[in-house]
Amino acid sequence: MLNIQVISVGDELLCGNTANTNLLFIGGRLAAHGYRVAGECCIPDTREAIFHALSESKDADIVILTGGLGPTKDDMTRPTTAEFLHRPLVFHPEIRAGILAYLGERGKKMPPEAAEVQSMVPEGGVPLKNQNGTAPGLLMTDGAKMWALLPGPPRELRPMFENELLPRILEKYAPLWREISLHALGLGESIVEDTVRKALGADLSRFHLAYCIKEDNVEIRVGALRGTQEDADLEKAVATIRQGFGTAALPEDCNSAIEYLAKLLREKGWTLATAESCTGGGIATRCTDLPGSSDWFLGGFVTYANSWKEQLLGVRKETLESHGAVSAETVSEMLDGVLQKTNADLAVAVSGIAGPGGGTPEKPVGTVFIGTAWRDGKNIQEFHIHGLRDTVRARTISYATAMLINSVLKQ
Ligand code: AMP
Ligand code: MG
Repeated sequence: MLNIQVISVGDELLCGNTANTNLLFIGGRLAAHGYRVAGECCIPDTREAIFHALSESKDADIVILTGGLGPTKDDMTRPTTAEFLHRPLVFHPEIRAGILAYLGERGKKMPPEAAEVQSMVPEGGVPLKNQNGTAPGLLMTDGAKMWALLPGPPRELRPMFENELLPRILEKYAPLWREISLHALGLGESIVEDTVRKALGADLSRFHLAYCIKEDNVEIRVGALRGTQEDADLEKAVATIRQGFGTAALPEDCNSAIEYLAKLLREKGWTLATAESCTGGGIATRCTDLPGSSDWFLGGFVTYANSWKEQLLGVRKETLESHGAVSAETVSEMLDGVLQKTNADLAVAVSGIAGPGGGTPEKPVGTVFIGTAWRDGKNIQEFHIHGLRDTVRARTISYATAMLINSVLKQ
């Protein structure tokens, strides 16, 4: 089995400063092409740690190191890898010329020694073009083995991985796996797993199954080794799983609930407007994350204070006083207000107690009212979400999206 190891180098990854999104990206892109990362380690910017990690990966076919390729003294990945591979660093004048041209075009400068350091390549190595920075990546091969050094900044690493490294991996190593993903909406991970188990029955153990909780859905990845009977049966298995989920499975061309909502609204020619309290514009953010959303998303009110609920949406003072801001009655009037103000075909309103303060015995932290409304109907539901502020807000956004989808499907 092809052994791919990722070594993430950077002090900032180990002290809570930077999330290791490069691993997420590399793992995801390799998986999408039928490879699996066998292991990963995250280490500080020291010669000892890098040398040790390289020694530990001596049986790997592909070793991908990220970070520590900059020109400063703390960037140890280049010299340590050269030392480990017994390949002296060789100066490449064409790399320096490229760095100077890159800086010149942007009116920037770099100390000559820094440009020199970034122009050094372990003997026999190949530089990988950097579209968005000065440090080129480095690729060394030895027979069937490959070591790739990629810069840490994601905007430099991603195009380099995609355009320079991935094609070389695809050329040299046959992908082992084939995977198809589908997405389940509005169900917890264990119910998703149970539904898959029931749908596949005796075929369950034939396929590699992975579950991943996404922003507003659970992704199910169904995989098989290429060239096997399971590979041939993969589409059939996915169709069976899809059937098991019924309407809870997102359509094939949608990777998230919000994409599905956008698709439904486009098909219907409907527009959406939002009125948000505890989510502070999070639903509107999710909508505008999608390019071209102005086709269906008109805009949103963030009415956090009661005074704004009254002034902008016409929520009545008596309603707020007798039922509270977190109530079905307030959400109902928020919906009336947003529909009236915007003339949208569909509206959503949310009001809840995200915590950590503000809870009462009757309305504890996590109490959220979510409502959707259209021209001749309305649906308001009460939720009790467990968790910290982040979780309450994130779940509210997901539940609101699911309710919007159901509201459109019902029409
Ligand atoms: P470098 O100079 O190549 O060590 O990378 C510097 C910057 O890249 C760091 O300050 C981080 O912001 C970012 N970075 C490095 N490694 C990672 C990683 N694994 N995931 C996300 N960002 C990273
Ligand atoms: Mg670094």
